[in-house]
Amino acid sequence: MIHEKSLIRPENLKTHDKLVLDGVDVSGHWSTFIQSRVVTDYNEKLEEEIAALPGGEHIHRCWQCGSCTNSCTVNAQNPDFNPRFWIYLIRMGMESELLRDKDIIWQCVSCHKCTSACPRDVVPEGVMKATAHWLALKGHTPKSKSQLFDEEFAAQVVATGKIEEGRVIRNFFAKTGQPLKQEWLVEMVKRVARRLPFMQGLRMAWATLFVPRTRSWRKASAALQEYIDEQETKQRKALNLE
Ligand code: SF4
Ligand code: SF4
Repeated sequence: MIHEKSLIRPENLKTHDKLVLDGVDVSGHWSTFIQSRVVTDYNEKLEEEIAALPGGEHIHRCWQCGSCTNSCTVNAQNPDFNPRFWIYLIRMGMESELLRDKDIIWQCVSCHKCTSACPRDVVPEGVMKATAHWLALKGHTPKSKSQLFDEEFAAQVVATGKIEEGRVIRNFFAKTGQPLKQEWLVEMVKRVARRLPFMQGLRMAWATLFVPRTRSWRKASAALQEYIDEQETKQRKALNLE
């Protein structure tokens, strides 16, 4: 049941400017009805699909109390950003309704306020991430910037066993079509460079040029890659993407 007025699509609200029923004038506001909807394209596996992605595992625990939405940082700015409602749609299998909000679900800022407020340990933040991931895997949205960042970050860890921040930023900017010369970044680099001890600066420059790997990393890297491939295959199967 939808019990928040803001969630009723305006086109489903019907009001008669002039209406008299059994001699009672119910014109205007008093004659507002919610037009019933018929949903025929349920995806009965939607909850299972989201639960198969990292972060979505506990979605079945939700009892719709709304604490996640009430505490949500993004909801405070945009009432259409509504984790409780999306969890409801997912559990009901209402995929087409969920897709109406596909362009804002990725906006979760991972503040975890919803997760602290949730009395059922659903981890709504994780469900938001899983849902954004699901949207991209199903081709409903392009990969989000945060997903591209995560991919770049993980690729470096797997390849070398360490992170070189400059390279992560460079590659992330290249993947997202952003210029490297951004005012805030130039300013940050300047300030860091001013305070950086000389030897540490030298080490960073060396790491940028030669991309060193953690010692004896090859086996760990192969094991990590095997695990990632296994998980991706499992997820694609759960989402019927084979
Ligand atoms: S706070 Fe937890 S239990 Fe309550 S609606 Fe949100 S996810 Fe569901
Ligand atoms: S983690 Fe995301 S969904 Fe949760 S409160 Fe923060 S912005 Fe809202």
